[in-house]
Amino acid sequence: MGYIYYCPRCRSTYSTEKDNQQYETCPSCNIKIIPIHITTDEWHSKTDEEKEEIKKKFDDQAKLSTSQTSSNSNSIGKALRVVGAIYIVLSLIGAMILMSEDFAIGLIAGVFGCLGGLLLMGFSEIINLLQDIKNK
Ligand SMILES: [Zn+2]
Repeated sequence: MGYIYYCPRCRSTYSTEKDNQQYETCPSCNIKIIPIHITTDEWHSKTDEEKEEIKKKFDDQAKLSTSQTSSNSNSIGKALRVVGAIYIVLSLIGAMILMSEDFAIGLIAGVFGCLGGLLLMGFSEIINLLQDIKNK
């Protein structure tokens, strides 16, 4: 008696001897495949539409788990925002020091410092938006 496993990447099914084995991998993609908890006999008695429906259900599951990992990689966007904020604070401090020497130069340094920081923060926003689009 065999049980059916499904690989969400190459969308093929495999049968193994044991059910609910957590670390079964796809022989062609080498990624973890999902136990469907259906015996080989049951699977072969299903119509193509029923098989497709089951595959779709597991595709959604696989997508959920990958979007979780990619929201973690989105931390680049978050880090850029923090760096942008630090950049603005530091350039304001620098601008104040310069202002005590020469007001005009300090003012220019402050303006450009804020602009640079805001650009970094804006860039982090763009990265977050792109990540959202990719996740859809
Ligand atoms: Zn595969």
